[in-house]
Amino acid sequence: MAIAEKIAGFIERASWIRKMFEEGEQLRSIHGADKVYDFTIGNPDVEPPEQFVEKLLELALRPLPGMHRYMSNAGYEETRAAVAEVLAEASGLEVKGSHVVMTCGAGGALNVVLKTILNPGEEVIILAPYFVEYKFYIDNHGGIPREVQTVPGSFQLDVAAIESAINEKTRALIVCSPNNPTGVVYPEESLRQLGEMLERRERELNRQIYLISDEPYSRICYDGVQVPNIFRYVASSVIVTSHSKDLALPGERIGYLAANPRMEGVELFMEGSVFSNRVLGFVNAPALMQRLVAGLQNISVDIGLYQEKRDLLYDNLTQMGFRMVKPQGAFYLFPESPLPDDVEFVRMAQRHRILLVPGAGFGAPGFFRIAYCVEKGMIDRSLPAWRNLAKEAGLPG
Ligand code: PLP
Repeated sequence: MAIAEKIAGFIERASWIRKMFEEGEQLRSIHGADKVYDFTIGNPDVEPPEQFVEKLLELALRPLPGMHRYMSNAGYEETRAAVAEVLAEASGLEVKGSHVVMTCGAGGALNVVLKTILNPGEEVIILAPYFVEYKFYIDNHGGIPREVQTVPGSFQLDVAAIESAINEKTRALIVCSPNNPTGVVYPEESLRQLGEMLERRERELNRQIYLISDEPYSRICYDGVQVPNIFRYVASSVIVTSHSKDLALPGERIGYLAANPRMEGVELFMEGSVFSNRVLGFVNAPALMQRLVAGLQNISVDIGLYQEKRDLLYDNLTQMGFRMVKPQGAFYLFPESPLPDDVEFVRMAQRHRILLVPGAGFGAPGFFRIAYCVEKGMIDRSLPAWRNLAKEAGLPG
């Protein structure tokens, strides 16, 4: 076998979700798809909004000349301007199209940003529990991930712990709110404190430290909660996001990065990002999708449907004795494992035909993740199995 040893090792370490999917396939073939309760993948079960389909039809029936050709590596001006308008309103700053690069999803945007800013051996702070791909993306560009814990019990930002991890090699910090896997949203006050600390450390170390705000769930919030705009609190900040979740388009690979207009050296950062987008082989974000999302910046799928599922699962599982933070956004629950070993608990759940991902996969052993972007009927059908699982794990059930 002749693949890189590093990749072979990564595949082995990062195989949880894939492993659960494959075992799920086997269970489905034995018991039938409706008797297997798969909560492993963050793949929206809803369809994109009607306006998306209308625009798609309009473009298919009346194609624009040249609409499938290359364009500027940063993307169409009209799309970048539409994104900038929304960000300018949210931040109160003069965000322009020139501060935006359209990308192949948030994953593409993260890779573009990391490639643009990292020198070999520089550190990027990530907050556990974290989106599992961060470590690989940082490695892609020669960086070193540095894990910092969030506050135990709440998963909120621990600004003092982040500060103590910063050193002369730190180049960036990645935050994700609403968070995957916890669903937690960081309030304005902790972002303010984080911003003050980061700007003070930048001055003390005489070194730019970027705050990369990974926000693909920013419009998926509940109970009237709104995600504060990060540009207000940190000058060296970049938003990376996509329409994978808010417009339910993960397969279409459409997202963007946007730099804070207050960032020192923002023109060079943008030049670097456009170049990185090109040489990573993305070249540009998908042309048709750029045309479509330009007019959809203020809409999203029906968030009420996700809130209903959050409530259904949260209410039932807490009644059964599971303990968890009530999420204010995204579509994940991250309960404590009732067994000390979360992998053992996930195996036990599998015997009840409930598929979950152990917290160990997110840098947080002792927990497990439920992705509830699934059909509501499946949640209803799964509840008796959850009750039996709870009892077997020593909870009231
Ligand atoms: N960041 C987080 C926290 C995610 O959960 C995901 C996808 O699940 C991504 C980034 C990547 O999303 P995409 O590349 O589809 O926009």
